[in-house]
Amino acid sequence: ATPMSVIVGVGKAAEAGVLIRNGEALQTASKITTMVLDKTGTITAGQPQVTEIYTLNGFSDVEVLTSAAGLEAGSEHPLANAVLEAARAHNCPIEAASDFHATAGKGVQGQIAGTQVLLGNVAMMDAHEVTTQAAHTVVNRMAAEAKTPVYVALDNQLAAIIGISDPVREDSRAAIARLQSEGMRVVMLTGDNHNTAKAVAAQVGVDEFFAEVLPQDKASKVKALQQQGEIVGMTGDGINDAPALAQADVGFAIGSGTDVAIESADITLMRASLHGLADAVTVSRATLKNIR
Ligand code: ADP
Ligand code: MG
Repeated sequence: ATPMSVIVGVGKAAEAGVLIRNGEALQTASKITTMVLDKTGTITAGQPQVTEIYTLNGFSDVEVLTSAAGLEAGSEHPLANAVLEAARAHNCPIEAASDFHATAGKGVQGQIAGTQVLLGNVAMMDAHEVTTQAAHTVVNRMAAEAKTPVYVALDNQLAAIIGISDPVREDSRAAIARLQSEGMRVVMLTGDNHNTAKAVAAQVGVDEFFAEVLPQDKASKVKALQQQGEIVGMTGDGINDAPALAQADVGFAIGSGTDVAIESADITLMRASLHGLADAVTVSRATLKNIR
């Protein structure tokens, strides 16, 4: 039978906007030793915006944005919306790409008005043998500013680096400090660029981060931590976080995130804040103290 104090704990958490699927999740949450946090949409607000377009090889902002938006019209990636908004703001005619193809963790490609368009990270460019040396300085600068550099190539020639900014939630740092004060190790996991991740990690004070992790490898990362003896909590919002949420000892979903993430999680945070996560941990530990 579920101890009365667990039922009370689940109720208390609900008052704080933390929906716990069952008593077992609350009990396991009190034992978490490592909390893994997704970056985009979990630590950050998840509302990416284009803040700069750095063109190369004589291409114009409008040419680049028109091509980029034609591809992103077919994408469900969080960065896609930012590109589409920027294209609309520049009055670009958006024509959906043909032969569209998305590669998880790398980017998208397709044909627009007879031009082969590639968009994504440096791995996407490398896979198509697009030369990127000329952009190294600007890419490093954007990443140091915690922006995601998005590469765009037209007919296999690098045309631009689009700088996309997704600011951290203003209370992420304080909420992460609360988790750490409970003795947890806090780890950030992201598919984003290493240097962008490094800048975000420094802003919020996580103990460790893993970047450029492919979507299919997020769950393996959680498993590896478990094999080191850690009791792992995982918090995420995206479709690509679902396997990791299921693998973790306790999965936490951001309530404003995707349905798939919520379905894969044990606990849902109704407020778009990591304080809900720290509240869940506090309630679980207080509850278990009452049982012992
Ligand atoms: P995250 O963990 O940040 O959600 P993903 O694994 O989805 O990361 O993607 C990793 C990287 O691949 C992104 O940071 C981006 O550089 C690139 N990428 C993938 N798909 C797209 C897309 N549709 N538009 C722009 N960039 C993309
Ligand atoms: Mg995310």
